[in-house]
Amino acid sequence: MIKGLVFDIRRFSVHDGPGIRTTVFLKGCPLDCSWCHNPEGRSTSPEKIPGKLVFEGKEYAREEIAGTMMDAEEVVQEVLKDRIFYETSGGGVTLSGGEPTFQAVFSLDILSRLKRTGIFTAIDTCGYTDHENMIKFADVTDLFLYDIKLMDEQAHIRHTGISNGTILSNLKFLTDSGKHVMIRYPVIPGINDNVGNLTSLSSFLLSLKNPPQEIHLLPYHALGASKYARLGRKNPMPEQFGISQEKLMSMSEQLQQKGFKVRVGG
Ligand code: SF4
Repeated sequence: MIKGLVFDIRRFSVHDGPGIRTTVFLKGCPLDCSWCHNPEGRSTSPEKIPGKLVFEGKEYAREEIAGTMMDAEEVVQEVLKDRIFYETSGGGVTLSGGEPTFQAVFSLDILSRLKRTGIFTAIDTCGYTDHENMIKFADVTDLFLYDIKLMDEQAHIRHTGISNGTILSNLKFLTDSGKHVMIRYPVIPGINDNVGNLTSLSSFLLSLKNPPQEIHLLPYHALGASKYARLGRKNPMPEQFGISQEKLMSMSEQLQQKGFKVRVGG
């Protein structure tokens, strides 16, 4: 059986789709976003994360390993433990990362098994995968939480390392196919918290045959900073800055005026 690399399974999540969910975080991501707050999710191999445990005022060194090899059935058996919560809350299981389509065969295996047991499936994706893969994901995924970061191609390359061409064409494919898509927009101060990018985003979405109706604005937070330190990596965004409520509200209003339902936060 195909195995894949999982770095976390988080139960009782309420930010990764409707209802109570379990979110499975898979390792590996083809992007290199400067604001990434899951640095332990990006490489395709297990990583040691040094840490410490404080007990009765004394510090003890401890090490975590980010990344466990599991097969799809093991993942399914683990997440089915909370089936009752999915059924009573309208929830289900979300694959996240990293980027779940990066381990496409493994992710598709998990999603197919979950679909066969009647579980509502979602993936939180950056959308950067082969079109052929996306067709397969469309078959076994009920909801796409689809990250859009920057509309200008050169800015996208500058801040994530890749073009957004594939991401936008996969989004068009999913919406044309009638799939349920919610847009997730990480709001990064100084990078995409501007009127111009939002205007391009709403124009693009409204040009689609079936525009997504809901957009989630996800304000940048610096919670990843300690992970960079523990991994011994340089944090590309060392400044501890946030985004004001006023700015978020004005971004939200701009999108609502175009007819989108907007939620601040996941
Ligand atoms: S797509 Fe997500 S996981 Fe990948 S580098 Fe960007 S923020 Fe990090």
